[in-house]
Parts: sequence; C-alpha cells; structure tokens
Amino acid sequence: MLSRRNVLTLLVAAASWPAACGLAAAQTPDDRLPVVATFSIVADLVRQVAGERIALTTLVGPDGDAHVYSPAPGDSRRLAQAKLIVSNGLGLEGWMARLIKSSGTKAAVVEATKGVKARKSDDAHAHGGFDPHAWQDVSNAKVYVANIRNALASADPAGREVYEANATAYLDALDALDREVRAAVAAIPPERRRIITTHDAFGYFKAAYGLDFVAPQGVSTEAEASAKDVARIIRQIKAETIPAVFLENVSDPRLMDRIARETGARTGPKLYSDALSGPDGPAGTYIAMVRHNIRAFSEALSR
Ligand code: ZN
Repeated sequence: MLSRRNVLTLLVAAASWPAACGLAAAQTPDDRLPVVATFSIVADLVRQVAGERIALTTLVGPDGDAHVYSPAPGDSRRLAQAKLIVSNGLGLEGWMARLIKSSGTKAAVVEATKGVKARKSDDAHAHGGFDPHAWQDVSNAKVYVANIRNALASADPAGREVYEANATAYLDALDALDREVRAAVAAIPPERRRIITTHDAFGYFKAAYGLDFVAPQGVSTEAEASAKDVARIIRQIKAETIPAVFLENVSDPRLMDRIARETGARTGPKLYSDALSGPDGPAGTYIAMVRHNIRAFSEALSR
C-alpha cells in the first residue's frame, strides 16, 4: 500500500517529468564562440561587444590581481577549447605566454592594448619596461574595444554585424564617460589634485586627466614597497599636505593604513584599479569602475 508520503513523491515526480524533458531538449550543445579573457576588465569589454553571442570564460575574476596570478588546473583546458583569447598585454599577464604554450591552444590570441601609446616605466617589475594599466585612460579603452570587435568578427564572421553595432554604441558611451571624467577633475581645486595609491596603477589616468598620483609600490604588485620608499612618501605627504590616500581592491590594506596613521591623511574610499568588483558591487563593469573611482577622488579632494 502506498503511504501518503509516497503518493506525494510520485505526484511530484510525475509533475516534474515533462519539465525535465523540456529542459533536456533545450540543452543543445553550446554552439556559441568559446572566448577566454584574462581578467575582469578586459572580460567586461568583450562582453559589451559580444553580448550573449559568445561563451566567455574569465581567468582572473573580480577583485583578483592579474599581476601575480597563478594559473588554476583547469585554465590550460579552457585555453585549449577557446577559439579566441583576449589579454591586456604590455606585460600585465606575465604568466600568460607559458600558459598559452603549455595548453597547445589553436585560438587566435589578441592583446587588447595593440596600438595604444604605451607609457614607459622604470619599475624593475614592469615586464617589458611598460606600464600595463592603459585602461585607466578612457580613450585607450576605445582602442581595446576596436581590437576586440575586429578579433570577434574575424573569429566569428557570421556575428560581424552584431559586434559592429554593439561596439559602435559602446564607443559612444565611452566618449560620454571621458567627458564625465574631465568635468569631474575640472571641479577639483588644482592645488588638491594629488592622490596617494598603493601601487602605481594610474599613470595613464594622470597623463590623460591631470590628477597627480604618488605610489610607494611600482607598476606591478609583485614587489613590496621598500622601507625607503614608504619613508619618502610619508615625508612627502607631511611636507605637501596631500589630502587623501586610497586603498585598492587588489592591494594589501596594511601599508596604506600605516601611511594614513603616520601622516593624518584621510583614507578615501576603496579604488578599483586593476579589477572590477563582483556584479553586485560598486564597480561591476568598466564604466561603473571609472565612475566609482572618479566619485571617490572628487569626494576626498573637494573641500
Ligand atoms: Zn596594477
């Protein structure tokens, strides 16, 4: 005899059977273009251009530090299965060349910074002698988008029109963003346009928009700041009354906490320098990241 409980189980099973079949039927093999992006910022730019046409995998996710990433066991397989791989280049992903080689991938590999006017760096940890943080100048992000659009169209010619339309709309949004950043910096009193960050991630921002950044760590997070560099910055903050120091989402907070304590400088909101936040955070996309950072600068530096 069936117990009441068993009857219920049978009813539930019967009710879910057609739904389960429907689900199985909908799971056709994924024929979307498999694309790998090395880290969250480039991944967002790829997503803006490709929409849902591709199956996108990101190696270094939100709040992750692409300078010092150790590839995960599955990464080699992800590269092997990809048709297109998009990296930043300019030495950001020093671990990438070996990973590409060991994966044996046949994918097209595109550096999104191709054609960007690269800043030279004296930092001994700058791979290849360049500053990789080109995305901090919005006009460089437009170069990334053009490279990504062209790479997607050649890997998936059937999608060309979609990629071109998405890229055109997004490039317009980046033009508007660039104007927003310029207006925000113009509203900060000139004598207060100085900022301390942990590592030197805003060189392109400084060159494009005119805020001055000082950092105890170089353009990579690989090496710790030396005691001498930290002492120099503490002296500089005291002598020049630099109003605020900032933490970054990819850096160890202890150094900035110490500098703030010893100088009395205010600690501004956390900056997103090298990685986006998760989707529910304040910097879930590239555009949201730039807006968040510029709002943080404005709040800390305005009187
Ligand atoms: Zn960095």
